[in-house]
Amino acid sequence: MSKSSKSQTPITIVKSKRVSCDGTGGALGHPRIYIDMGQNNTAKCKYCDQSFKLQIA
Ligand SMILES: [Zn+2]
Repeated sequence: MSKSSKSQTPITIVKSKRVSCDGTGGALGHPRIYIDMGQNNTAKCKYCDQSFKLQIA
């Protein structure tokens, strides 16, 4: 009967393929890193599993 709330990581929409993440927004913090999406339109932070998605204009 318990309502299970899955901690789903939100996807951050970004305008650049190069994003930075420092873990803010969650309980986990980590040194700021830069992620390059390269050929993809999405990226995921290896530290906090934050997902980033390129905004298609
Ligand atoms: Zn992160």
